Amino acid sequence: MIEQRKFYINGSWVDPIAGSDCEVIDPSIEEPVAVISLGGQADTDAAVAAAKAALPAWRALPVDERIGYVRRILEVYTERQHDMAKAVSLEMGAPIDFSLAEQVDSGDWHIRGFLEAVKNFEWEHRLNDKPGTRIIKDPIGVVGMITPWNWPMNQVTLKTIPAMMAGCTMVLKPSEIAPLSSLLFAEIVDAAGVPPGVFNLVNGDGLGVGTQLSVHPDVDMVSFTGSTRAGIAISKAAADTLKRVSLELGGKGANIVFADADAEAVHRGARQCFENTGQSCNSPTRMLVERSRYEQAVEQATEVARDTRVASASESGGHIGPLVSEAQFNKVQALIQTGIDEGARLVAGGIGRPDGLNRGYFVRPTVFADVTPDMTIMREEIFGPVLSIMPFDAPDEALEIANDTVYGLTNYVQSSDPETLKRFARDLHSGMVQMNGKSRGQGAPFGGVGQSGNGREGGVWGIEEFVEIKSVGGWPD
Ligand code: NAD
Repeated sequence: MIEQRKFYINGSWVDPIAGSDCEVIDPSIEEPVAVISLGGQADTDAAVAAAKAALPAWRALPVDERIGYVRRILEVYTERQHDMAKAVSLEMGAPIDFSLAEQVDSGDWHIRGFLEAVKNFEWEHRLNDKPGTRIIKDPIGVVGMITPWNWPMNQVTLKTIPAMMAGCTMVLKPSEIAPLSSLLFAEIVDAAGVPPGVFNLVNGDGLGVGTQLSVHPDVDMVSFTGSTRAGIAISKAAADTLKRVSLELGGKGANIVFADADAEAVHRGARQCFENTGQSCNSPTRMLVERSRYEQAVEQATEVARDTRVASASESGGHIGPLVSEAQFNKVQALIQTGIDEGARLVAGGIGRPDGLNRGYFVRPTVFADVTPDMTIMREEIFGPVLSIMPFDAPDEALEIANDTVYGLTNYVQSSDPETLKRFARDLHSGMVQMNGKSRGQGAPFGGVGQSGNGREGGVWGIEEFVEIKSVGGWPD
């Protein structure tokens, strides 16, 4: 059993003041593999005080020196990538090869993206051609960061790295379900020599440390990624101190497949839906297929589900792993049952574990056909490998169904017609649109609209999240 009860505060590993034990469960075997502490108010206060004390010196450092620390973090992150892959795999069930190639790599990719973006970042500039008015970008201050378990290093690097560049100091509270990777990230920050107090980590749950950070008068901003439910709770808790709240929340992505889409479009969409065992906020879970191609699409998606191997996270290979927890397992099972009860046509997968697996939070890659827009599985974020397919007849109808959701994170379009692509890119109500399997480039902003949140993470926009804009008149040009 791994014992990691300490917190990282003011450059040291310290015992909790008000901690209680919390077990980390390996979802492939349903057994505890580590124990951490959940902090209390005194731990949160100590971490916030350290961040506050470190702020004046950190923000006063020339930005190139702060960037130098980030370069060093990237070096150590790369040196420790295999340890990181094991930590992520163990805590949240990503198969070990996927953990290294995708989960850990996403952190590397974002850090490099920020190092590129910061080269052209305008920290100060004139308003216009006329002298006298200057725009200065100040660090927001002390940032509370609350992260989920599904892409741990993706989220942690998207928040900590630009905040450091901007001159902010921070307290990270990672998911209590998947804290091991963040504890290792704290070791990496420490080994990179980042000055004490700039980065602090306190483990805890949402109602404890999460709420304490949200209401804390000395926290200037909360940067949150997680469920829409928690995003609403945090916004309310933060309201009394009027701190800035940046939210990256859930999604229910539509994938619109036109009859003229390339031959791989449906396979690609189904695989992407099952990736990370369906536990991605930007997963394309609603597939809308033009009627002339619909029955073929149902067969192709069924094939992908049947060919998707499910196995333990510790095994090497291209399979998918278990869901993260018993709670998620029960939620996904219940939603599959709801799909059946509401009359969707189950064409692959279904209730229960895949054959040959009798423990671990494994679920069957599942495809429903003939889904209608009012069904629960078409409206709620399932967060498991469950794909819902329905036909459409006209582009306007597809657009209306795609936009008929409270969410708006990533939508997908598959077509070979440039005019269709451009129209849908403009008219889909979401923060991101991916077309014909092309992902957004490094440094592009990630974020949503509506109940998918209001943040924009990554690249220049990701640095802007952590600055206040100051207008100065009478600047001696
Ligand atoms: P969650 O909301 O249950 O937990 C996320 C984090 O918030 C955890 O650290 C948790 O301890 C904390 N938390 C929970 N309740 C809180 C409260 N009341 N106050 C303060 N903190 C609280 O989400 P999860 O189950 O860990 O993650 C899955 C969710 O995250 C999904 O809905 C997914 O779509 C979303 N997500 C969104 C993005 C994005 O960028 N938009 C990325 C990844 C995940």
